[in-house]
Amino acid sequence: MAFESLSEKLQNIFKSLRGKGKLSEADVKAALKEVRMALLEADVNFKVVKKFVADIQERAVGTEVLESLTPAQHVIKIVNEELIKLIGSETKEIIMQPQGEITVIMMAGLQGAGKTTTAAKLAGKLKSKGNTPLLVACDVYRPAAVEQLKINGEKQNIPVFSMGNNLSPVDIAKAALEHAKKNHNNILILDTAGRLHIDEKMMDELADIKKNINVNQTLLVVDAMTGQDAVNVAESFNDKIELDGIIVTKLDGDTRGGAALSIKAVTGKPILYVGMGEKLSDLEVFHPDRMAGRILG
Ligand code: GDP
Repeated sequence: MAFESLSEKLQNIFKSLRGKGKLSEADVKAALKEVRMALLEADVNFKVVKKFVADIQERAVGTEVLESLTPAQHVIKIVNEELIKLIGSETKEIIMQPQGEITVIMMAGLQGAGKTTTAAKLAGKLKSKGNTPLLVACDVYRPAAVEQLKINGEKQNIPVFSMGNNLSPVDIAKAALEHAKKNHNNILILDTAGRLHIDEKMMDELADIKKNINVNQTLLVVDAMTGQDAVNVAESFNDKIELDGIIVTKLDGDTRGGAALSIKAVTGKPILYVGMGEKLSDLEVFHPDRMAGRILG
């Protein structure tokens, strides 16, 4: 499970703070230095850590302690609030088009990030809320991805639209949109091609889809296990194709969690969902307050 080590360290720091009845400015500073170390060890982006700690310090030293709180509780409350702010403040979900219109969601990401699996998971989640999604296989380079989408669609009784690999992703997406209109699908989820590394061709292809089809939500899938690389990937994608939201996968794995903690601060784009396992049901709406609670214990 992600964040285990970070969580343990932060809880130890808080425990020793609680043990000190009164807190001097030096005590707070020393504790924040440890918080800083713990975050860096969890692979949180160093600029993000710097600002995070500075903000907490300013608030902890500069504000009155509420009578109902001990000084330690005061500091812990501030860390909790700042952590929630850092990872997103509020729960955000996919923005749907008005009723009667089709919401087009484009999934982007590097190969192996979990894009195809997540597209299917997302379709299942949206279906369970009463929607009628259509999964669209726009990855024309990897026949296995098309097959994988079909299998995962079938498992959930969700239709999958594919046209093989001779047409362009734009043509497939256009045809899928027509198909969706005729078959009363209110959501289109485009599974696009990924590559091992960011390259111009992949970005151009995604930009081309957006130019030709009215994509309502562009979602990036990143792998939490890749740490700060995931954050860099998100920054590049956001620069090139403007994201609406991010899905962080493999948070069930043995990741230090730094990507999930930095990505919103670095890109300005919210995490909408997190992948918590390989099963199709293992996709959770991302709640910043609950995540902070999980970390701080
Ligand atoms: P794509 O190349 O981005 O389309 O990646 P895939 O959807 O094929 O996923 C790559 C691998 O990651 C597969 O083995 C998935 O089962 C696995 N995977 C995807 N999401 C998660 C997750 O949240 N947790 C875990 N443990 N594995 C995941």
